[in-house]
Amino acid sequence: MTTFRKLAPGKLVIASHNAGKVREIRALLEPYGINPVSAGDLGLPEPEETGTSFRENALLKAHASAASSGLPALADDSGLCVDALGGRPGVYTADWAERQWFEGNPGRDWYLAMGKVEGLLAEQGPGVDRSACFVCTLALAWPDGHAEVFEGRADGSLTWPPRGKLGFGYDPVFVPVGNVLTFAEIDPAEKHRISHRADAFAKLVAGVL
Ligand code: IMP
Repeated sequence: MTTFRKLAPGKLVIASHNAGKVREIRALLEPYGINPVSAGDLGLPEPEETGTSFRENALLKAHASAASSGLPALADDSGLCVDALGGRPGVYTADWAERQWFEGNPGRDWYLAMGKVEGLLAEQGPGVDRSACFVCTLALAWPDGHAEVFEGRADGSLTWPPRGKLGFGYDPVFVPVGNVLTFAEIDPAEKHRISHRADAFAKLVAGVL
């Protein structure tokens, strides 16, 4: 049996500048009496995500926040993996929303990103396999350099056009298995029960809390 280092009661940094992720991680931590502070609130620098896997990027972000804050830090690296696109956008999920790719203006546009995925699927014809999964890797790092990693996933399929106003990122096009509604249409409490983040989180809770 794997033994994980336990997280002692006290402060925890969410090593993310993504408001949607911070909101979901806060909600997932709340039942455990953990009231974290985000890297954005502390003004911590956002490291460049140079890794080629979710695991590498999650570790990179968690170690950077733990080192600069002196506190344990929890990072999430996640993305959408589309079967018919060979797992893309994968670790580059956020990059596909970079507006300068499309219009020369900095900033992220999720509608354009979802449209890019849809455009690539459409190129493959009407019978294309629309299966996809969201992956979430959580890394918890301590200032002394120790870290634990937990991985979760949610399977589903992609729909078009986007539907719903809840959630964030690619939620409006992702229909989880067993549902007809997208992640952006279902109640957030339900998303917190079935999402890739919830799956990884359940493993983290079992391991370190
Ligand atoms: P990164 O982990 O910062 O590289 O960003 C991952 C990207 O994946 C996010 O910016 C979102 O676009 C997307 N993503 C991750 N989790 C979710 C989710 O729960 N819903 C919708 N999009 C997500």
